[in-house]
Amino acid sequence: MKKYDYLVVGAGLFGSVFAHEAKKKGRKCLVIDKRNHIGGNCYTEEIEGINVHRYGAHIFHTSNKEVWSYVNSFVEFNRYTNSPVAKYKGELYNLPFNMNTFYQLWRVTTPEEAKSKIEEQRSEYRHITDPKNLEEQALILGGKDIYEKLIKGYTEKQWGRPASEIPAFIIKRLPFRFTFDNNYFDDIYQGIPIGGYTLLFQRLLDGIDVKLGIDYLADKDSLDRLASKVVYTGEIDKFYNYCFGKLEYRGLYFENEILDLENFQGNAVVNYTEKEVPFTRVIEHKHFEYGRQSKTYISKEYPSEFSKDDEKYYPINDERNQILFHKYNNLADKEDKVIFGGRLAEYKYYDMHHVIEKALTVSKINIE
Ligand code: FAD
Ligand code: UDP
Repeated sequence: MKKYDYLVVGAGLFGSVFAHEAKKKGRKCLVIDKRNHIGGNCYTEEIEGINVHRYGAHIFHTSNKEVWSYVNSFVEFNRYTNSPVAKYKGELYNLPFNMNTFYQLWRVTTPEEAKSKIEEQRSEYRHITDPKNLEEQALILGGKDIYEKLIKGYTEKQWGRPASEIPAFIIKRLPFRFTFDNNYFDDIYQGIPIGGYTLLFQRLLDGIDVKLGIDYLADKDSLDRLASKVVYTGEIDKFYNYCFGKLEYRGLYFENEILDLENFQGNAVVNYTEKEVPFTRVIEHKHFEYGRQSKTYISKEYPSEFSKDDEKYYPINDERNQILFHKYNNLADKEDKVIFGGRLAEYKYYDMHHVIEKALTVSKINIE
């Protein structure tokens, strides 16, 4: 008889939702994480009374009512709506691309004028019928000005390669609208947990054994002996000792500052879209929760080949990496005692609501 039904590797969103569901069905779980905190990349830490998003800005959004009710059953969400502002050579533009942006770019004031301006901007690229990369996709979506002022510099900094070598699907994430609506997301529900994301994780993991600062792969055999099954949310290539080679990730690092100032930039997120500025965005954390503290905490976000702390941020889902991932995934499919889930184990550009959906589905299938 093993002490636990499940050893859950990773106290991020996938691991915590899975463990919560397992406990609900009477299963015993041990959750471990190699970091010294729960929450994975959603972790927030209170500094100067401000909930700081330690691994980058996290805005919860979904159109799935079940997922929205689920997260709200643990913690209350505020009315935060993500409306980033883009700064290009000293000029400000609203995002996502909407009537405000079109006015700021071309002084057009009606949807009809905006559409005809964009038509004119796109006319040079009509020959592109099947966009093969992000550059082509962006040019046929919005034309030259939008691409050059708001997309090219940001994207090339973010991904560290020319936009012509980046998969087109990444830019399809950006909505395009002909209304004066600065809401970055199209989803029905949106907000930030009041009190920070860490509270959500504390409540998900309430009553569950959690051990931090433990690297599963460093002590795999003895940890495996503790439970009948393993739920693994770490990197899939590392699990298999990189036997087919390493999957690539885009790294990030944050330059953090506490400023003796009440309000630095008037918005939680300001994107710097020109190539000459080395960071992609500046996050002013207090604005996620309408903070009135006397100080403010800001993070400049720098994309990098690898993050300094070796954290894996964005999977690079290009052809080479996808082929490699499938090799690992074929091995994973053959495991009967290990369940793989989450953005690292599935090598997927997952939003939080997708991870919750997946963890709920996987737990329904696996826990009778
Ligand atoms: P993680 O949060 O990475 O959790 C995995 C955990 O496993 C980690 O804590 C890790 O330490 C642990 N682990 C790994 N290997 C081991 C090991 N060997 N032993 C022990 N522990 C291990 N989503 C949104 O919906 N909205 C947003 O605004 C948003 N913004 C984002 C901004 C950035 C910069 C990034 C990178 C992501 C963003 N996301 C956003 C996505 C969101 O972070 C993920 O969907 C979510 O964190 C994934 O949860 P997870 O459990 O799969 O992975
Ligand atoms: N993007 C851009 N300009 C911006 C913001 C985003 O060109 O001001 C592009 C960029 O290629 C980025 C993609 O849109 O990788 C997706 O952006 P999103 O903000 O959805 O990504 P996140 O960084 O939040 O995952």
